[in-house]
Amino acid sequence: RPLTSNDLIEEHRICVCVRARPLNKKELTMKDLDVITIPSKDVVMVHEPKQKVDLTRYLENQTFRFDYAFDENSTNEMVYRFTAQPLVETIFERGMATCFAYGQTGSGKTHTMGGDFSGKNQDCSKGIYALSARDVFLMIKKPNYKKLDLQIFATFFEIYSGKVFDLLNNKTKLRVLEDGKQQVQVVGLQEREVKCTEDVLKLIEVGNSCRTSGQTSANAHSSRSHAVFQIILRRRGKMHGKFSLIDLAGNERGADTSSADRQTRLEGAEINKSLLALKECIRALGRNKPHTPFRASKLTQVLRDSFIGENSRTCMVGQKQSCGGSRSELSPTYEYDRFTTSL
Ligand code: ADP
Ligand code: MG
Repeated sequence: RPLTSNDLIEEHRICVCVRARPLNKKELTMKDLDVITIPSKDVVMVHEPKQKVDLTRYLENQTFRFDYAFDENSTNEMVYRFTAQPLVETIFERGMATCFAYGQTGSGKTHTMGGDFSGKNQDCSKGIYALSARDVFLMIKKPNYKKLDLQIFATFFEIYSGKVFDLLNNKTKLRVLEDGKQQVQVVGLQEREVKCTEDVLKLIEVGNSCRTSGQTSANAHSSRSHAVFQIILRRRGKMHGKFSLIDLAGNERGADTSSADRQTRLEGAEINKSLLALKECIRALGRNKPHTPFRASKLTQVLRDSFIGENSRTCMVGQKQSCGGSRSELSPTYEYDRFTTSL
């Protein structure tokens, strides 16, 4: 019997997947080597160019197993079905769900999460934010949930250099406070009620244009910030469930090398710190550890309630540009080790 979404809910509190994007025009003309292949739906093979002492070149192959591996032909809809879709039910069952995309700048995080509204990929313009919202609106019509009289809200914010900015309110800088009961609050965060998928699409557009406005270089602000889109269910004003969908900052190293300016180095250090904290929190979640080190970064601090709940579930999509092995300064195996194999 093939695995269904329900099995995922029952068996996994954490689901780790990989998605490879297709090579782009530039990479194709440069005849870049594919450094990974996906031979089956849960296996990723990493090919690392090596050289023997006699200088003959060869590829060293290593195999990694994931919950799912999506090759370059997969669509957002397919990725969604095995990652975020099973988590939609979680928030209706009073749970906390988190889904995030992790990977280097240019690996496809925003394409997967926010979608691609550039018109280049017409058939998969919707990303996981919008697809999740679509299913939330379907789910809420089911008799069991309809009778709960839930209201749906959305927030969209960015965390940049340890500071929180509201993407639904002109990047207003917000304070994060922790009260005596360890409840974390982002003070003044706009929480917009949404009545249909269209409402959500509008908010995504507003947030996205706010996120990228005033950006010029490839070293743009958005690649060095985490974007957090949340769908919140409320019942008589009280939180019923929350889905946090996160487009993480680029995980490239090199931002902390000496060639970068001071500001860029600081940002790189901050990103590393928050990705490490995220990893620690996820590991704690997987092992039911009572103490979750959520305070180690702003990202994990604002996601605190998602890491401590009984009914918390997380899904990660590790994005991979399937090319650049020979030119990349990163060892792909190192990158995988750093995040996934230890989960
Ligand atoms: P990131 O957010 O990780 O920096 P992007 O999502 O912006 O990366 O993707 C980089 C480029 O690759 C964009 O032009 C995007 O349209 C394209 N791209 C990413 N993933 C895919 C995909 N699965 N199919 C087609 N194009 C993709
Ligand atoms: Mg991006």
